[in-house]
Amino acid sequence: MTDEILPAIAGEILTGEAALSAAGRDWGNLIHARPGLVVRPASVTDVAVVLKFAAARGLRVAARGAGHSPYGQSQAEGGIVLDMTSLPPHRVVTGDLVSVDAGARWREVLETTLPHGLTPPVLTDYLELTVAGTLVVGGIGGATQHHGTQTDCVVELEVVTGTGEVLTCSREINRELFDAVLGGLGQCGVITRAALRLIPAPTTARRWKLYYDSLPAFLADQRTAVRDGRFDYLEGQLVPGDDGRRYMLEAVSFSTPPDEPDEDALLDSLAFGESENEETTYFGFLNRMADGEAALRAEGSWFHPHPWLDLFLPDDAVEEVVAEFLATTDESELGATGLVLLYPVRKDRLTTSLFSVPEGEISWLFSPLRTGSPDDPLHNARLIELNVDLYRKVRDLGGKAYPTNALPMSTEDWREHFGPVWPKLAEAKARYAPGNLLNPGQRLMDG
Ligand SMILES: Cc1cc2nc3c(=O)[nH]c(=O)nc-3n(C[C@H](O)[C@H](O)[C@H](O)COP(=O)(O)OP(=O)(O)OC[C@H]3O[C@@H](n4cnc5c(N)ncnc54)[C@H](O)[C@@H]3O)c2cc1C
Repeated sequence: MTDEILPAIAGEILTGEAALSAAGRDWGNLIHARPGLVVRPASVTDVAVVLKFAAARGLRVAARGAGHSPYGQSQAEGGIVLDMTSLPPHRVVTGDLVSVDAGARWREVLETTLPHGLTPPVLTDYLELTVAGTLVVGGIGGATQHHGTQTDCVVELEVVTGTGEVLTCSREINRELFDAVLGGLGQCGVITRAALRLIPAPTTARRWKLYYDSLPAFLADQRTAVRDGRFDYLEGQLVPGDDGRRYMLEAVSFSTPPDEPDEDALLDSLAFGESENEETTYFGFLNRMADGEAALRAEGSWFHPHPWLDLFLPDDAVEEVVAEFLATTDESELGATGLVLLYPVRKDRLTTSLFSVPEGEISWLFSPLRTGSPDDPLHNARLIELNVDLYRKVRDLGGKAYPTNALPMSTEDWREHFGPVWPKLAEAKARYAPGNLLNPGQRLMDG
């Protein structure tokens, strides 16, 4: 860290042990890179002052949202961490748009929009992630099959570039910056505000869990449902069964009384075995991880290492990859609270240029979400090696990473990941955040 003193800002500058060590940890609990200081900005001006100061001195700066990255993505060893959750709440609904501070959590966005009868079209499974934290990776969920990613629903951003310039960008203004920030891993600027498109919010969610013993039947029904769009939300999981794993299609229909879902039409021609269903409020469904989080916190595994991996598989490789994964993965490689997601997305719904998925009409989010050991670093290192092997295998089959992983990636890996859009990202990074100082935990250009 520099001995020079940061110019006065309205926010807080923290150098105490507790703040530095917290900023050197994240959800993954695998990388621990302590910054030299933590800044809690009170305004966009504070963010600009810090970035200008750091750029002039070659200091690395990471913006941090909820810190739910798995592998140090929001850390900056020896540099400055900007805690974006300290920006004053700015949450304003106008027509069918909401304008929010970048550090708002998606739960807070919903708490702002639902009283207006409106909702963001796509929510992540977990609502305690920040708006900017998901916009730099994409933000996907069970409604992506209809509305694309969260980045596809952004209308305008306020961004502080790596050199400290405050710019507004959208499809109409500063388009190059807009395209480089959405899904751009925070390499070109720090998002301070976002204007997001909203749709009418339903009040009720009817959720079916449909179980399958056969992987081909499970995949076939997901393909049918994603093509005809019969459900408002569609995800899937590999779940423990009596004899290994079985498959669960999780499908939801949203409605507002007096309308209600037509169960016969929704389940028509699907080849599941057992099923369950329940009705909750719309918000209750979206916030469904809250109870699970409380239980995992109480039991302790919420704080264990999380060598998570999210990949997109091409449709013609999904069956082979998943079957081989199941045949070769033992429970210790997932961990007691690990889980595996598997659900399809449609390419024609995705418009964010930096959001990379395989070629083809449908690709599959395949996420082995492993829980590691709190006291066995060698085991955790082995799980990361397994992630590397699986990533390479999937990539050779035409697959992609969903870029929020416990997965070391070289510059060459990133170049290949972004493919034809890499030169645009690299050019925008050189223009808006020269010096490779911003959000270094993504290790995009570290060789
Ligand atoms: C329990 C859990 C469930 C999840 N479920 C989903 C899901 O359903 N769908 C999905 O898509 N993802 C999901 N994720 C992954 C999650 O979306 C990403 O890890 C996301 O980046 C985390 O957001 P965050 O607010 O915690 O960001 P952080 O971890 O704090 O930061 C993530 C990255 O964003 C950068 N960043 C943060 N704020 C800014 C800013 N203001 N401007 C520029 N860059 C910034 C950071 O530097 C870092 O590189 C889940 C993660 C967890 C832990």
